[in-house]
Amino acid sequence: MWRIPLSNLNYDHREAEAVQQVLASGWLTMGPRIKEFEEEFAAYHRAETAVAVANCTCALELVYRFLFQMQDAKDRRAIIVPDITFVATASAVIAAGGEPVLCDVESADKPYLSLAAVEELLKSRNDIAGVVVVHYAGHDAGVEAMVELCGRYKIQVIEDCAHSPGAVTASGRPLGTIGLAGCFSFFSNKNISTGEGGMILPNTNGPSVDIGHSLGAWAKMARSHGTTGGGTWQRHIDGTAGYNVMFPAYNYRCTEITAALGIVQLEKLEEGNARRRELTQLYYQLLDPVDGVDVLMPDGGIEASACHILPVLIPDEQARRRVIDALAHAQIQMSHHYPAIHTFHAYSQQDESVFTALANASAFAARELTLPLHPKLTDAQVHEITGVIKSTVS
Ligand SMILES: *Cc1c(COP(=O)(O)O)cnc(C)c1O
Repeated sequence: MWRIPLSNLNYDHREAEAVQQVLASGWLTMGPRIKEFEEEFAAYHRAETAVAVANCTCALELVYRFLFQMQDAKDRRAIIVPDITFVATASAVIAAGGEPVLCDVESADKPYLSLAAVEELLKSRNDIAGVVVVHYAGHDAGVEAMVELCGRYKIQVIEDCAHSPGAVTASGRPLGTIGLAGCFSFFSNKNISTGEGGMILPNTNGPSVDIGHSLGAWAKMARSHGTTGGGTWQRHIDGTAGYNVMFPAYNYRCTEITAALGIVQLEKLEEGNARRRELTQLYYQLLDPVDGVDVLMPDGGIEASACHILPVLIPDEQARRRVIDALAHAQIQMSHHYPAIHTFHAYSQQDESVFTALANASAFAARELTLPLHPKLTDAQVHEITGVIKSTVS
């Protein structure tokens, strides 16, 4: 229906062959391909270990649950969440038995969790167990500074890396390996697409080596009913039937098909991200001279980002409305990342003060518009899209 879609699968015959091989193998649930995908995903991000799960929402929920069990976090059940993110960052806190505390973002132009607002909350509340940063658009959300701040309060930072596989900080540290853990998504429109799928990277590089290893081991049980014994594949090849259940848990596994797709997609990530960066640069060049339209560029430089989406800011509400109509008329798909979470029915608060405190998030949400970005997008299409915008706002 859209002439130029917002995102597109970066698939070819390799994904089809990888899936065919799984079907021919006769083993569909977690097995050798999951192990290979985990090892390659961890190695690519210079991490020691990775845990594949059904999706990023499950990944976040498991990390939050683990955090609530940690010694330092006993009885603390609140997690600070940026008001600008996909709702899963917050709803997974509730699923884990906690309370999301919606927090403002840096400014009306920057959707990253505000360091100053987090510090205010850490000073005024004693029930905070952790802080989750979202590497919005694949850009570093300032995780090192957040880890430094939270370290002073003995609070853990979790990284929502749904937008940021393959991204690094300005100094070159892979995102997802700096806080307690990184949580990744392989939903259809993400930089690595498997339909559904997620990954946890427990941090074993930082000062919390032991915590990272115990998170990894715990998550492997927690994704599979809390059972010991290495899972269904291990039992299949060992021929042993015995396992124990260490704690009540659910089934957050993914399949060999997910992993087969993920392995091929991971091989394409470097090239796909490079193309995304080129296209982002081109958008920036073409829109920079246009008054009233700004491209959200990463603070740490474009080479560091995974450039997952292309957010533009159009502060003039009427101009933004005209651009939306003009793009729709030209059959160019657009999106909105994101409505502020506190405006959703399920999260809306009665307390007026909460709204004032989320002023930057509201302002950012009101200006943001997401334009098409994916490795198969052509330069000509970017010229066309930006042409529509230029002629509409000027
Ligand atoms: C996509 C996304 C998620 C959820 O990922 P799923 O794999 O669909 O569960 C969480 N956070 C952010 C920022 C996302 O973009």
